[in-house]
Amino acid sequence: MTAQILDGNALAKRIRQRLQGVVAEWKNQGFRPPGLAVILVGDDPASAVYVKGKRRDCEEVGVYSKALHLDAAIDQAELEAHIDDLNADPNIDGILVQSPLSPHHDEDRIIDRILPNKDVDGFHAYNIGCLALRRPTLRSCTPMGVMQMLDHIGTQYKGSHATIIGASNHVGRPMSLELLLAGVTVTTAHKFTTNTEEMARQADILISAVGKPGLVPGDWIKEGATVIDVGITRGDNNNLFGDVEFEAAKERAAWITPVPGGVGPMTRVALLQNTMQAAASHLGISWKAL
Ligand code: NAD
Repeated sequence: MTAQILDGNALAKRIRQRLQGVVAEWKNQGFRPPGLAVILVGDDPASAVYVKGKRRDCEEVGVYSKALHLDAAIDQAELEAHIDDLNADPNIDGILVQSPLSPHHDEDRIIDRILPNKDVDGFHAYNIGCLALRRPTLRSCTPMGVMQMLDHIGTQYKGSHATIIGASNHVGRPMSLELLLAGVTVTTAHKFTTNTEEMARQADILISAVGKPGLVPGDWIKEGATVIDVGITRGDNNNLFGDVEFEAAKERAAWITPVPGGVGPMTRVALLQNTMQAAASHLGISWKAL
């Protein structure tokens, strides 16, 4: 079997085009554009690239974007004061704080400071709690993008078995909650798991979110599985690697995401969708997920 490629770039582009139409319609009805604020702290080159991409996406769709580039030395209180300002800004629907922050920052406190209804990254304890209780609100972007990819394939995944490798607050944990919500049986592996290979071999859906190239050899893939590679590792020449041995995995999987061009663009478009969902709620417009 040779897998079909789950093309995140193409799918995200189609969703952006639909969002563009919705923003244009809102503007015609006299509403202000949705607004996204992105806070970048310090000069991490990869973060700067991500923030630039997010701004480009906003421009394409017609979302107002505001960028705050703050010095790495900014203290916690000052950073929190910027969040308070954005929480109070009536033109801002979503606030994203690009990680990593500086070592002296308490990232959990920063996320907690964002109003849950402006937490378009879906990282706030309130939003994660709502997802855990099967009442999703603003959902974490990467797992949301992955669910949209699974929906795109169109095969019935309720009752199937997913293995997620990685259990971080931003990816692995909310991913397991999303899949549980969708009626999937979920197994999660992490750095203390001793039988990851065995768990991977049983998976109808295998999701790796670790950041270690080659962590998942191709022969771990169950024949006909869907393989979602969230991992991104930047090589010496700035080229990107996923966690999965792509060429070998492709020969066993039914569907597989490439890196780059798989989950990354879907994460970005989920951020836009969350910003629009937040804006719809702030403006009193009904919102139907795309
Ligand atoms: P993280 O470092 O916070 O979490 C990594 C997780 O992997 C942890 O739960 C850890 O227990 C687990 N782990 C580490 N070694 C392991 C091993 N040998 N076997 C099994 N589990 C192991 O990272 P994160 O923020 O969750 O990101 C994970 C990867 O996904 C990174 O490469 C990151 O760049 C990438 N990422 C991609 C996107 C995207 O849009 N494609 C979005 C977010 C993160």
